[in-house]
Amino acid sequence: MPLNIAIDGPAGAGKSTIAKMVAKKKNLIYVDTGAMYRAIALYILRKGTDVNDPDAVSKDCKSANVTIGYEDGVQIVYLNGENVNAFLRTEEVGNVASKTSAVPAVRAQIFDLQQKLAKENDCIMDGRDIGTVVLPWADPKVYLTASSEVRAKRRFDELVAKGEQPDFDKIKADIEQRDYQDMHREISPLKQAEDATLVDSSYMTIEEVVDAICDLCK
Ligand code: C5P
Repeated sequence: MPLNIAIDGPAGAGKSTIAKMVAKKKNLIYVDTGAMYRAIALYILRKGTDVNDPDAVSKDCKSANVTIGYEDGVQIVYLNGENVNAFLRTEEVGNVASKTSAVPAVRAQIFDLQQKLAKENDCIMDGRDIGTVVLPWADPKVYLTASSEVRAKRRFDELVAKGEQPDFDKIKADIEQRDYQDMHREISPLKQAEDATLVDSSYMTIEEVVDAICDLCK
């Protein structure tokens, strides 16, 4: 059985940064499931589907075929054969993904792909429901979080470093709205699995978090 590490937690907790570093240290592939939900959100956006209409999203997502590959250890997401990595990391796509990922047909669409990757590879997979639903067998499971204030500040600093002039209050409000949507949806809500270790990164360095997770691996 391959080594499967699950990392769940809210937006901006640092899951992807940490997971990529653990993957390198432990020689695992990194599976970014948020990117899969973002690819479906991109499809829905491009198609012009009403993102607030679950029936329309349910119907239209069926023609979005999401697959992934790896180039030099970097996950590439293909949407109907097109490499869409460059379009996934916008606030708009993230906010739409948070809505469309609450639609059962969207989750069903990529569930098998996630399980297949984990069964065939040593991997660290991050998302919202990896430890609770997708990989109940994962060991270790980590619930990585940080206060919304700290998460908003990290996002704010990233945007400033890119030369943008972000609005801190708006970033914090968006993060809190996304947390609410992800934690209160009917299907696969974000929550800590009973057997997950809670890691609050608010006042930890990246290296400290990486070491804490590596220490959990037997
Ligand atoms: O992690 P990321 O910000 O890329 O995820 C985008 C959105 O996709 C999240 O807000 C969440 O609604 C959804 N998602 C999910 N389940 C996962 C990963 C992401 O519902 N396993």
